[in-house]
Amino acid sequence: MNFDWTNMASAMHKVFMPLVAILASSLLTLNSANAGSVSRIDTSDSQITVSFDGLVEGASAFSLVGPDRIAVDIKGGKAGARGGRATGIIKSVRQGQYDPDTARIVFDLDRPAFVTAGKFSADGKSLKLQLQLVGRSEIRNGRKSFLPPLNFRAEPPTKRYSVKVPLGKPQDEVSLPKIYGPDDDSRPLVVIDAGHGGHDPGAISPHGSQQEKNITLAISRALRDQLVASGRVRVAMTRETDKYLVLEERYGIARRLDADLFISIHADSAGNQAAAGATVYTLSEVASDREAAKLAARENRANIINGVNLGGANRDVSSILIDLTQRETMNVSADFAKLLVREGQRMIKFRTNPHRFASLVVLKAPDTPSVLFESGYLTNKEDVELLSSRTGQSKVAIGIANAIEAHFARKLAQR
Ligand code: ZN
Repeated sequence: MNFDWTNMASAMHKVFMPLVAILASSLLTLNSANAGSVSRIDTSDSQITVSFDGLVEGASAFSLVGPDRIAVDIKGGKAGARGGRATGIIKSVRQGQYDPDTARIVFDLDRPAFVTAGKFSADGKSLKLQLQLVGRSEIRNGRKSFLPPLNFRAEPPTKRYSVKVPLGKPQDEVSLPKIYGPDDDSRPLVVIDAGHGGHDPGAISPHGSQQEKNITLAISRALRDQLVASGRVRVAMTRETDKYLVLEERYGIARRLDADLFISIHADSAGNQAAAGATVYTLSEVASDREAAKLAARENRANIINGVNLGGANRDVSSILIDLTQRETMNVSADFAKLLVREGQRMIKFRTNPHRFASLVVLKAPDTPSVLFESGYLTNKEDVELLSSRTGQSKVAIGIANAIEAHFARKLAQR
């Protein structure tokens, strides 16, 4: 199975997930009970004979150089228990199950050779291959195929299962959320993004009692309430319930609402239980340190479920070029991050060097100033107690709200 997500991405300028991903095809092969197993392998300088205890569908052989090898694939066959005896130019023989339907035998060679011809016996139970020594440059990558006589050929598997797992309801775009606050379009709009949600819990505290997705939602609600109470800005949330959104949908909401600021709320975890305090991340293709790069890898993984990348567009986020609009947006984001540290520190305990840079997908909106706020560590005792308490959540919310209001007051003064 090989989805080409990058092609899909080009068709979507706001990226939304395909709804059903086929997670596995040909998971099972039937008829395997009837498949012939490799029962014996005989070799000489010019010939290989592979014998089976039952019927197989066919075989193919190809040569490899450096190290020199010949590989023989037996379709509809099972690998046998023993490797086989090596003689002449064949140094060793190995075999194994390449996939549920194919046994592979590898002959390690003294010098380069290839299979010139091959033939199944009349009863289909053995295959003779003719070898020819050649110069290394004469080895070509082609594969030669051989079929047993029609009456002695195993049937290909009649049934292959595909498993389809529905990942969501069909919809082109997630619906836009409610806007809280004054009914006045001239007021700045802040979009708060509670990280993770649904099947994606995010970080989990050591005993599993706290999940990041719940803490981020609680802090986001507290922040919304704080901002709405002061009445200076309008507020929307990417999610208000325990639901899953891919990263592009999160900033996509901010873009569609033409938001003035996007703030994604998270909580981190670390192997070191002493790690504590908040960090503010803004976008950069170059991570400020190794830890920031690792954090980006962790947070960007939110787009992947069951091995399928639902985000699509930014498979390799670091290779995306940042255009000029985005550069301007990044400057505003960085200014806000500094302000958040300065204004927030009365209420929020930050780490040393609290403003860091990382290639985070959720911050990729080219035209919306965006920050990702890691509120603390679920692996730290004090942090998790604080972040899971109402008091702690509202302290964090007040700290962020103060910074948001200072940010827009400053912008207003600059006009
Ligand atoms: Zn997170």
